[in-house]
Amino acid sequence: MTAMSGKQIIMNPTSFASDPATAYLLVAIMGAVIGSFLSMLVYRLPIILKRQWDRDCREALALAPPETAETFNIAWPASHCPQCRAPLKLRDNIPLFGFLLLGGRCRHCRAPIPRQYFLIEALTTLAAIAAVMHFGPTTRAAGAFLLGAALIALTFIDMREQILPDVITLPFLWLGLLVNRGGLYASLDSAVLGAIGAYLFLWVVFHAFRLATGKEGMGQGDFKLFALGGAWLGWQLLPLVLLFASLAGALYGGALILTRRLTRSTPMPFGPFLCAAIWLALFYGRPLMTLYLRGAHG
Ligand SMILES: [Zn+2]
Repeated sequence: MTAMSGKQIIMNPTSFASDPATAYLLVAIMGAVIGSFLSMLVYRLPIILKRQWDRDCREALALAPPETAETFNIAWPASHCPQCRAPLKLRDNIPLFGFLLLGGRCRHCRAPIPRQYFLIEALTTLAAIAAVMHFGPTTRAAGAFLLGAALIALTFIDMREQILPDVITLPFLWLGLLVNRGGLYASLDSAVLGAIGAYLFLWVVFHAFRLATGKEGMGQGDFKLFALGGAWLGWQLLPLVLLFASLAGALYGGALILTRRLTRSTPMPFGPFLCAAIWLALFYGRPLMTLYLRGAHG
């Protein structure tokens, strides 16, 4: 069985050819539903992790455990307004449309619902459509979408909290190696070297920068995120990822400094730029590298 060849069709191709509108609608609905899960995850995961760290620290310092707070996890409590805590009605919870029908405000207290929820759902929907348009109804598209979903969650968590949780980066690093066992996006050899090389490279840069300036230029989570990129893309595309991410980061940072919304010394998370660059490279990395190498060799 060539389960990982990437040419394996996971959706009936005749239904795609004969009725593309319905097929893409199903893809979009699946994307929106997963996007809805992600917007909840982006909000809840940092809180869950902080409570865990708080408990761990108190335990290590032999302090009294925190006062028993109400249960809070991925599934509990049910979706509610963060302002007035009124539970959401089923129809308000429909991805994308719930937000639009409510006009971006809570049904009860009219407090604005953060636009981030809508943005995450919309981006995830677009990611699902883009993956199927680019790779066709194949395992490659499914993998690209899954990676895209993880990168969207990491982007928004890093922007909000300046953390890249291990519970997302590490499983997706291993998953990258797993999907490339059959060479879905890169050879296994290239993926293993990519994961190790990427981590090592940023580790060296981090320590060199710290020795030279006494400052920490990035977070340790960035090493793991870059390693994840290496595992999915293979080592050959890593320079391209760094180039994309640095260019985007420099442009964005420059624009913020020019509009005086950021000073030179304010830390800016690098994770979102790495995430975008990894996903772009999964789609266009190989053709771009071929183009570049052809140009370089005349
Ligand atoms: Zn409310």
